[in-house]
Amino acid sequence: MRVLLTGVAGFIGSHLALRLLDMGYEVVGADNFSTGSDTNLRDLVDHCRFQFVHCDVTSGISVHGPFDWVLHFASPASPPRYQRLPIETLRVNSEGTYHLLELARNSGARFFLASTSEVYGDPLVHPQPESYWGNVNPVGPRSVYDEAKRYAEALTMAYHRTYGLDVRIVRIFNTYGPRMDPADGRVVSTFITQALTGRPLTVYGDGCQTRSFCYVDDMVEGIIRLMERPIQEPVNLGNPEEFTILELANLVLELTGSSSPIVFRPLPEDDPRQRRPDITRARQLLGWGPKVSLREGLRRTIEYFHQVLADGQLQAGV
Ligand code: NAD
Ligand code: UDP
Repeated sequence: MRVLLTGVAGFIGSHLALRLLDMGYEVVGADNFSTGSDTNLRDLVDHCRFQFVHCDVTSGISVHGPFDWVLHFASPASPPRYQRLPIETLRVNSEGTYHLLELARNSGARFFLASTSEVYGDPLVHPQPESYWGNVNPVGPRSVYDEAKRYAEALTMAYHRTYGLDVRIVRIFNTYGPRMDPADGRVVSTFITQALTGRPLTVYGDGCQTRSFCYVDDMVEGIIRLMERPIQEPVNLGNPEEFTILELANLVLELTGSSSPIVFRPLPEDDPRQRRPDITRARQLLGWGPKVSLREGLRRTIEYFHQVLADGQLQAGV
């Protein structure tokens, strides 16, 4: 089995590539390093069944099939990063998705789209089932990501309906773990970095907004199970345990033993007030549910960040 995986130098992509190699796949990984890092490729590059292609997939990719799968994970994913790369984010999820769907169609491959809980926007239905159509501001600062992913889903379903392409759409909820970029501005990486370097933890707003955090190994397991089942409709993957951001800050302080203070900063525009996946579909169709608690997952992630700190790679000033 041979797969093309875009976004391989990123957080989730690098974990997924390792898992696919372990399962015996041949993996062609593509990335332009816009938000990823070559350190995430360290465990991959020497593998005899791994090949890396340095390219911007927005303009397509000049590798040739046959592929069994085209897995499209390339996209900036953290709010500060996709807002710093607005046009690139829109394009990789629109033009990039188009080129990769064409590649899948022409090489007889199945197509897998990494979508997001952000398609639900600032949700008015809680928790969010796949049947909910969302509450997205189409012109707000987050729209470059949310609307791009909604378009990517629509294009994927159009290829399925028009050409009978075998597709999967996963709606990923907040995922964390080792190999997150300490400087990506996401809440887990930011709080851990701040706690380990003795700086204040920056809680946005009053910290009562909620998120549900899924450990990366659970996420990869869900993705693999979805590849193995013929489910063309979107599937939520995430951990349904919900925490306020203030609870997360306090847990990070407890687990790191840090005496950093908590400071409050303005809430970014259009920041969703609550988010929790309804994973009934994943439980029923994939027999999947998360196994790693937030406490355990944070412990493993903190251990990784400690190592990054010891290697001198942790930047001050996130
Ligand atoms: P990441 O930023 O760590 O990884 C994305 C990778 O894509 C990076 O290596 C980046 O360099 C690469 N990339 C971006 N644009 C590219 C382009 N035009 N051409 C080639 N490579 C390009 O992010 P992640 O957290 O690993 O997210 C992976 C995927 O999962 C994304 O599609 C994201 O939208 C989705 N997702 C992630 C989360 C999460 O919590 N981590 C939640 C929802 C959805
Ligand atoms: N957040 C925070 N402090 C930070 C970074 C983020 O309080 O330093 C909040 C952010 O406002 C949001 C939540 O944490 O309410 C999750 O943010 P993240 O950027 O990780 O992902 P999102 O779920 O918003 O895409």
